[in-house]
Amino acid sequence: MDAINKIRNDFPILSRKVKGKQLVYLDNGATTQKPQQVIDTIEKYYAYENSNIHRGVHTLSQEATTKYEEARETVKSFIGAGKNEEIIFTKGTTDSINLIASSFGKKLLKKGDEIIISAMEHHSNIVPWQMICEEKEAVLKVIPINKKGELIMEALEKLVSPKTKLIAVNHISNTLGTINPIKKIIEIAHKNNALVLIDAAQSIAHTPLNVVDLDVDFLVFSGHKMFAPTGVGILYGKEALLNDLPPYQGGGDMIKEVTFEKTTYNCLPHKFEAGTPNIAGGIGLASAIDYIKKIGFDTILKQEKALLAYGTQELLTIDGLRIIGSADNKTSVISFVIDGIHPFDIGTIIDQLGIAVRTGHHCTQPLMNFFEIPGTIRASFAFYNTKEEVDILVKGLKRAINMLL
Ligand code: PLP
Repeated sequence: MDAINKIRNDFPILSRKVKGKQLVYLDNGATTQKPQQVIDTIEKYYAYENSNIHRGVHTLSQEATTKYEEARETVKSFIGAGKNEEIIFTKGTTDSINLIASSFGKKLLKKGDEIIISAMEHHSNIVPWQMICEEKEAVLKVIPINKKGELIMEALEKLVSPKTKLIAVNHISNTLGTINPIKKIIEIAHKNNALVLIDAAQSIAHTPLNVVDLDVDFLVFSGHKMFAPTGVGILYGKEALLNDLPPYQGGGDMIKEVTFEKTTYNCLPHKFEAGTPNIAGGIGLASAIDYIKKIGFDTILKQEKALLAYGTQELLTIDGLRIIGSADNKTSVISFVIDGIHPFDIGTIIDQLGIAVRTGHHCTQPLMNFFEIPGTIRASFAFYNTKEEVDILVKGLKRAINMLL
């Protein structure tokens, strides 16, 4: 058995059948599958370790607290952060962005200030900024892209001004697969005294990241896109910045002392973690990180690069197929349209063949408007995908096209 097939055995779902056919799961951009190791960790937690954290003196509570805080430590090391205080557990990328937009916006945004995002953002990195800009009468500006789906960096240089307070961009576009030059963006922002939030939802499972090396101010991601459970995610923030921001939500755990007259807030990271968190999720996330480390980014990058090259080559053999997103620096996401056929129709037919791809606007409607298309069909690969699955996809697409045209 080759190395990839051995890895596939770690993911029970990959051996199931859909509509009587072997599942071909190519929707990793939406969510990744979970290895047995992560499933076992969560099961063990609920079976033998479940308890609330940070509150009880009893053994179970202390054990659960220790595991949860060890998980924070694992996340910290994984992204190269300096301190546990800089790692905030959230519900996911969307929750993390809303936290910063709200908290940063309330404290630091004034009328006429500017926030910059890009034309290829997921709705969750657009709408929270629109909401806070509306509230504060601030201005939202957008870095344009070219037809290849790359940021126009010269335009960014012109957009940044002394009024710019923060730049929020994704590292990798979920729709185009474009890898953005985040280090350069951070340099430009800092030269202009602006902060940067990087949405790493699509990069965290695909490329190593080091927040200190990047000098990024805030970095956010979701557990479920990195082989961990849904409902857990991370906000990394530089300690001094997080200390300066007001809490996002009020409730248990985020307080130091409460009276009816006044409440004082807990220190980091608890200040931003009101209420009982997703404890099993946090512990599951640490288990997923251990799993990624076991596979290693060398293997991940090699396999995903090969899948991108082979997938692009084979898909382009299909008449009438056009790839949307051809950036020079790209990850293993291939979005495409087929002349004369709506993406939903293709998605529905190939589902009958056991093939799971994403169809639609991928929560990037402004990007669809830019390319003047209603949506795309998106195959997004993980390291457990194979060239044989690319062949099945191509065969399935040809069959669907024959039926529809
Ligand atoms: N940002 C990007 C680039 C994404 O791809 C996604 C999800 O697809 C999100 C943000 C939102 O992530 P979540 O739904 O896990 O909060």
